[in-house]
Amino acid sequence: MAGVYIHIPFCKKFCSYCDFYHIEAPVDFSDFISALFCEAEKRSDYLGNEKVSTIYIGGGTPSVMPVNLINRMLEKLGTIFSVEEGCEITVELNPDDIDNDFIRELKATPVNRVSLGIQSWNDRDLKLLGRRHNAAQAEAALEQILSAGYSNLTIDLIYGIPGTTSHDWASNLEKSFTFDIKHLSAYHLSFEPGTLLWKMKEKGQITEIDEEESSSQFNLLIEMTAAAGFTHYEISNFCKPGYLSLHNSNYWKQVNYLGLGPSAHSFNGFSRQWNVRDVKKYMKAVISGSDFHEGEELDRKTRFNEYIMTSLRTMWGIDLDLIESRFEKEGYDYIVNLSAKFINYGLMNQVKNTLVLTNQGKMISDNIISELMLP
Ligand code: SF4
Repeated sequence: MAGVYIHIPFCKKFCSYCDFYHIEAPVDFSDFISALFCEAEKRSDYLGNEKVSTIYIGGGTPSVMPVNLINRMLEKLGTIFSVEEGCEITVELNPDDIDNDFIRELKATPVNRVSLGIQSWNDRDLKLLGRRHNAAQAEAALEQILSAGYSNLTIDLIYGIPGTTSHDWASNLEKSFTFDIKHLSAYHLSFEPGTLLWKMKEKGQITEIDEEESSSQFNLLIEMTAAAGFTHYEISNFCKPGYLSLHNSNYWKQVNYLGLGPSAHSFNGFSRQWNVRDVKKYMKAVISGSDFHEGEELDRKTRFNEYIMTSLRTMWGIDLDLIESRFEKEGYDYIVNLSAKFINYGLMNQVKNTLVLTNQGKMISDNIISELMLP
């Protein structure tokens, strides 16, 4: 079981908060697609004999590309890798790229899960975030996706936006739950250095919401998703029964994956590689046969820390049996001793042989994780 990620680094407009690798979308994608196929062929043995059980096309904005190219990518992967029947295939979409024709065409491809970047139902927020769409376009896109027959639908929302209150955030969640969405990814807005939003904050044009408001919005998220029948299976991810993201869950469970495209990362259990973060350099290097990625072997300490970091964010938590088998008694004792105080404070629970965060612990998950990691 393995995953393939394809990074489509193109955007029609740059959002004010985004630091993902992206450039302006070209008129013609053919050179990029050729390079992508060339990389897939060169790295055909990366996953060994493992079957591909999830494919995720993200970005950037995959929906700036015509559907027939998305389909060609999937066909190509099918000729190179052993793609499992029923493989979860997700594509990220931007609301303003979608119309009925686009969705109908997409539905005729093997894509069986779509992720719509809504971010907020409030036009003021969308403007501040520099999104291309407005709330009415998001609503129309959701309706088109649902009426085309896509049931495995996830949306992205952002909370903690400057100027918002808990009441605004509750309205955003309520509005989302009026649609038959099966999955929600909700992220707290972060101010990444170099982004437009970060510059606006530095100049005093906007103010970050305070900690109390931030906690209140996170609590609302937990309460309202639970009341709407969602399972909180990762800090930022919520799903209806049977609809968790297999692709992302596999990242958190440290399943092997191959990342194709500029800036994409790959992981095979013992090493990690990352592709050059520049479209032109990527295409030139892939086609000419020169190096297009760097990598590192993951030593024992890094593997331990990565396991703690990813597992504790999920509802499955830290598996103490797994810790003992991979990191011996030393690793087991280390984590059991350090987690005792978090259990005493009500921030973590031990459930059989796993350690999981309580709702209170989820509020300060980053602090807990960094205390549990090996220095
Ligand atoms: S958030 Fe998405 S659409 Fe906006 S600039 Fe970043 S990658 Fe592009």
